[in-house]
Amino acid sequence: MERPLTQHIARDGRYRGLQEYGKTGGYRSLARLADGLSPQDIQRLVTESGLRGRGGAGFPTGSKWSFVPMGSDAPRPKYIVANADEMEPGTFKDRVLMEGDPHGLVEGMILAGYAIQAEIGFIFLRGEYRLSAQRLTNAISEAYTEGHLGRTLHGSDFRFDLHLHTSAGRYICGEETALLNALEGKRAIPRAKPPYPQTAGLWGQPTVVQNVETMYNLPHIVNHGAAWYHNLSRSKDGGTKLYGMSGRVAHPGCWELPLGTTARELLEHYAGGMSSGFSFRGLLPGGASTAFLVQEHLDLPMDFSSIPPQVSRLGTGTMIVLDDRTCPVGFVLNLEQFFARESCGWCTPCREGLPWVARILESFEEGRATNDDLTLLEMHAEFLGPGRTFCALAPGAVEPLKSALKYFRDDFVRHIRMGQCPWNITLKRHKILV
Ligand code: SF4
Repeated sequence: MERPLTQHIARDGRYRGLQEYGKTGGYRSLARLADGLSPQDIQRLVTESGLRGRGGAGFPTGSKWSFVPMGSDAPRPKYIVANADEMEPGTFKDRVLMEGDPHGLVEGMILAGYAIQAEIGFIFLRGEYRLSAQRLTNAISEAYTEGHLGRTLHGSDFRFDLHLHTSAGRYICGEETALLNALEGKRAIPRAKPPYPQTAGLWGQPTVVQNVETMYNLPHIVNHGAAWYHNLSRSKDGGTKLYGMSGRVAHPGCWELPLGTTARELLEHYAGGMSSGFSFRGLLPGGASTAFLVQEHLDLPMDFSSIPPQVSRLGTGTMIVLDDRTCPVGFVLNLEQFFARESCGWCTPCREGLPWVARILESFEEGRATNDDLTLLEMHAEFLGPGRTFCALAPGAVEPLKSALKYFRDDFVRHIRMGQCPWNITLKRHKILV
């Protein structure tokens, strides 16, 4: 099985510098630019490869690039931004790549910059990712010394400069337009769309914001071709995917596998099944802002096309497993507290609604909830849904709640009937809680 993105990452976690990266084919794709591969050629290759953005939305990368004005009369400068603000709870795939192979991101960004004729790139990095920051700084410096960045790019007249920017730390900065505001030094709130960043992004100039994992795919598409890349996948979308799994599983981790690997294979084969003494109840397929999948969905291919939209979505592909000894209400409460804290506060339904949802869920855990609270929760799950708020944070936040009310409704009812969290009783009985 081919694993182009992770095959050279050292198991001992050491830094892979320029020399080691070069020995395994690193920066080979840039020679093709000097050989006459045009920006349009790269756009065509990427479109044909079936690459879709790995940040969660799964938008086709080639289509995204196609909205950028090209040619000699296009506005200048143009920007390419790597969204490395990986703050989705349960998601840690981009960190694996940036710590393990930082030059891969630099090379991917040069190619993306070349494809849209951008002169300047920014890596917008989660502030807590200190090791990634250190290694990316080294990699950028090495790439300048070697002549991959800056004025001379393997003899071509293309100039590309790359800067690392560490985030001050808000979840909303993962939303591309809030990220652009933060980069400009403004309050990190989403912008109204249109205009889209491809035409009016950073400082009003054409900008593409792209997830880190997406960038890592580009050198391999350029080196091996669109058909090779597409065939790595088991689904109609191309490539491999970094999947992750956390929770009470035997071997939590992150694996690069063909896109379209099933959830069952991930759980039973790669994660080694549930930890001893725990049974499977459900999983969030792509971070905290996706809806629960349950036993009946385990054979679904985990890709952008096979999960029915009314059920859930792939999201980031890093899964959080819910077991039978964890209270689903407490599990969802934990997530809603996070989202309430991370609301940017710009629009009322999200700013007021999410803390309200968290307070209602607390009342369930503390044994104060009534049937009216259950009705209120259902109402909030609808009111905070798509189209009711300025950005997708609130609709994403209520996805786990809405699906928990569907699949684990009995657990909510038991909290009301018993006047307390049933799991506290079980844990006390097993002397886990005192
Ligand atoms: Fe901000 Fe939430 Fe409104 Fe998005 S939905 S703009 S995060 S308040």
